[in-house]
Amino acid sequence: MDLLRLGIVALAVALVPLWSAGQAPAPGGKLVEKPWEKLSHRRLMEYGEKALGGDPGKWKHGETEHFVFHFQELADAQLVGEMAEAYYRQIQKDLGVTQDRLTRKNHVFIFNDRDEWQRFFKTTRLDMGAVGIASRTELFLLSPGGARFATGLLGHEITHCIFYRFVPNVVPLWLNEGFAEFESLHVYAKLRGLDETRYSHRRPIHYPLKQLLAATKYPKTDVPKFYAASERLVRFLLTQQDRRKFLPFVQMVASGAKSEDALLFIYHDQFKSFAEFAAAFEKFNQPPPRQEPP
Ligand SMILES: [Zn+2]
Repeated sequence: MDLLRLGIVALAVALVPLWSAGQAPAPGGKLVEKPWEKLSHRRLMEYGEKALGGDPGKWKHGETEHFVFHFQELADAQLVGEMAEAYYRQIQKDLGVTQDRLTRKNHVFIFNDRDEWQRFFKTTRLDMGAVGIASRTELFLLSPGGARFATGLLGHEITHCIFYRFVPNVVPLWLNEGFAEFESLHVYAKLRGLDETRYSHRRPIHYPLKQLLAATKYPKTDVPKFYAASERLVRFLLTQQDRRKFLPFVQMVASGAKSEDALLFIYHDQFKSFAEFAAAFEKFNQPPPRQEPP
């Protein structure tokens, strides 16, 4: 099991469409329902096989341009399908990649029945508390009785699956989680025409930088702070530095370089030492002064 590729969300709230009324959904996002035999891609990974349970007849199926869906409620799959394709396009743009390294599609399973979901978790030995989980190119979601899931949390998990299509190797934990956190808000804000700085970057996040960069496991305490600090660092690289350097940086750490070394190598024209990098990041970490009403 690839822990660094695994994202877990622990809350279930309402899933809302990404689009304002009258706005067109992303191209490629229209889900077409099909019988299992007619799907363009049917090869599942270990967890996907377990979710299918050897019986495709238990599920309805459908696909969009990059995703195959297995579901009970068409409306759920359509919402997630439109969202997933929108995330795909924006992430491709943000990373500056034109070539998807995979031709196969991502598989998304949407469970409606909590008992079925728990049975699936038992067979996979995954974390029983979660309602959504991403593993490599597969995504598993619980949408119980119309309660559905949060757009932001879903965006985070979808980002993990899409990132895997463009970056084959494991990247450091902070980068994997920070990128998913960044994109979950960034894509949502972009598609809805919102000013994302109103929702992010409201206070400094104090987390030891070297510890963050070197982490190979989730911290035992204060996990939300670890996620927030990771997001802040990715936001710094993607919004304050030359965005074209981000993908080479990701590829360098995915090839085994340490985060600290890769930062200094790729961003060498900006930072001559790690202390310089840390100081620039700390300056960014302090939110801009808020405008007081006159
Ligand atoms: Zn995650």
